[in-house]
Amino acid sequence: MTSMMDLIQELWTLKRDIVSDDFDKALYRLSDELPMKIHEYASGTPCWTWKVPEKWTCDEAYLETLDGRRLIDYKDHPLYVISYSLPFEGEVTHAQLARHLHSHSRLPNAVPYVFKIYEREWGLCCSQTLRDSLKDESYRVVIRTRFEPGTMKVGEYVIEGESKETFMIVSHLCHPGMVNDDLSGVVVAMDVARQLSEGPKPYYTYRFLFLPETIGSVAYLSHNESLIPDMRAGLFLEMLGNDSPHALQQSFMPDSKGDKVFRTALTALDGGAYIGPWRSVINNDERQFNAPGVRVPMLSLSRVESPDSTTRPYREYHSNLDTPSIVTQERLEQSRDLVLALLYAWEKDQYVVNHFKGEIFCSGYGIWIDYRTNAEGHRRLFEIMERCDGEHTISDIAQELGVSYQSVQKVTDLLCDKKLVSYSRTPIKTSPR
Ligand SMILES: [Zn+2]
Repeated sequence: MTSMMDLIQELWTLKRDIVSDDFDKALYRLSDELPMKIHEYASGTPCWTWKVPEKWTCDEAYLETLDGRRLIDYKDHPLYVISYSLPFEGEVTHAQLARHLHSHSRLPNAVPYVFKIYEREWGLCCSQTLRDSLKDESYRVVIRTRFEPGTMKVGEYVIEGESKETFMIVSHLCHPGMVNDDLSGVVVAMDVARQLSEGPKPYYTYRFLFLPETIGSVAYLSHNESLIPDMRAGLFLEMLGNDSPHALQQSFMPDSKGDKVFRTALTALDGGAYIGPWRSVINNDERQFNAPGVRVPMLSLSRVESPDSTTRPYREYHSNLDTPSIVTQERLEQSRDLVLALLYAWEKDQYVVNHFKGEIFCSGYGIWIDYRTNAEGHRRLFEIMERCDGEHTISDIAQELGVSYQSVQKVTDLLCDKKLVSYSRTPIKTSPR
């Protein structure tokens, strides 16, 4: 079993444009590690309002001075050419070149990631420093790219649970030559999948998707509409290796069970993490799952600088500085363990059904907390017990009381041991009214 960091080292330099030989190479390599079903969607296939693009290949591209001094070369890094650039070859004036040359808005020495998949134009990228040094009247541009019919691939790995009700875990794999965005999410999802599949059979079915951003999700969802009603919640993963706190972005439906469980469980698992509303942290494939006609509450987990940072989401974002050097195995493992702990809470979250009537005789059951020595504990115990009525889940109670999921579960587990309550996947009304 290859470690997360070793997989990153192996795959990060591949030119993983959305429909490309290198995307396929990366996905097939991942499927050696985790046996996936690979779905194929031919170029031109309609996917709701979208269409699968052609396969794109860049054979060669460079910018040079008229006397043949090479300034940038695709061989050195895939980001020197915009993803899905049209081919172009010729001499251009400084002004013409400037219109097709892109640089990073805040990192003067970085090459930006620019993609123009549906816009059809040619373009190159370079550092602002290089751009500022261009003083000649004309330059020579060579971009040899090909657009051909191909097939876009989506990898799927399923862990069957006792129920058909499904939890979706999604990450994208289509960022050429970059690591934190997006390979880090892919390798964490792979490790979560491995660990979940080694454990006892879960209640929920878990469906993992590894795909090209946006169009990959739209293609999968539009060709698997019958699965959508069973999708109860989901989590999108990326940017999990950099040195920033975890950020949980809620779904479009913040009252969903997934939102409630993850929100109330996160703080006890990672005190440094923060929680943001829908679209406040980062936008990715969760948009397609939450969208009209689908409405699967999908949250996202990433590591993103605090909302007041000027280099958000992180300094090296969408540039050639997003390399393995900003990612550590340790942080990837922390993120993997956090995802597993969140899913553990998701699995356990059930309705708490009372087998008692009235208030519990706590002293008689040995669970009395003396208010004189622990006033807070005493109050919390009663606040939790009075909500164990067959119509509140653990996460409902945690949310109502503004306490962690884990602190409620500790109490309900204790009541369960005493046979005072049991858990149920469906609500059971226990009051006569
Ligand atoms: Zn990105």
